[in-house]
Amino acid sequence: MSSLLQMLFPTTCLICALPGPWLCNPCEEKISRVPTGGEIGGMKLWAGAYYGDELSQLILLAKEQNSAPARNYLAQLIVEAFMSAAIIPIQGSAVTLIPIPSSSAANRQRGFRHSYLLARRTASLIERATSQQVEVKEGLRVNRKIADQSNLNRGERERNLSGAYSVDNRHIRRSTQQVPERIFLIDDLVTSGSSIREGLRALQELGITPCGVLAAGVSPRVFS
Ligand SMILES: [Zn+2]
Repeated sequence: MSSLLQMLFPTTCLICALPGPWLCNPCEEKISRVPTGGEIGGMKLWAGAYYGDELSQLILLAKEQNSAPARNYLAQLIVEAFMSAAIIPIQGSAVTLIPIPSSSAANRQRGFRHSYLLARRTASLIERATSQQVEVKEGLRVNRKIADQSNLNRGERERNLSGAYSVDNRHIRRSTQQVPERIFLIDDLVTSGSSIREGLRALQELGITPCGVLAAGVSPRVFS
């Protein structure tokens, strides 16, 4: 069946561009999985894979080119991270995913909300895999101009993001009925952890402490 589909709708590997599946075996094998959870900013962190060239390409494709197959792969990595967090289903209580936001300027320029779309895709994959209800709440927003983080060092990232997030009251309220143990921050990649710490700070101002962070990728430095 897959070879028939391949004949009718030929695809190429997102990374090496060879004809075949969206991610060929040799490329997929270069993406190494993270065996255990770690900690960041006093919160538990679960990530699917270590950051490397291949994962970096997939993140760029999803984030800058709105590639659905690349986003799907990142979402699968986050589902693996969720599974290793071993969250026990609670009757009638949904898991809530709060995406680390991009600035509205970046969203406008791209024409889509990468962090939201990734969280939505992840939510539907977790629902399918575990039958738990999963909600995505865009509870954080960027409240001022921030610079692109990619060329900043750790101290510059902290300053760039300090106080930059606010809680969006349309999505999250202080008198939340959500069980705190069921709330996760979610991001494509954790490197310095500055956006995670800022997200946590903004939520804690409302008395909300998520139980952890789920990410597709993590810099090996974070776990060393
Ligand atoms: Zn390949």
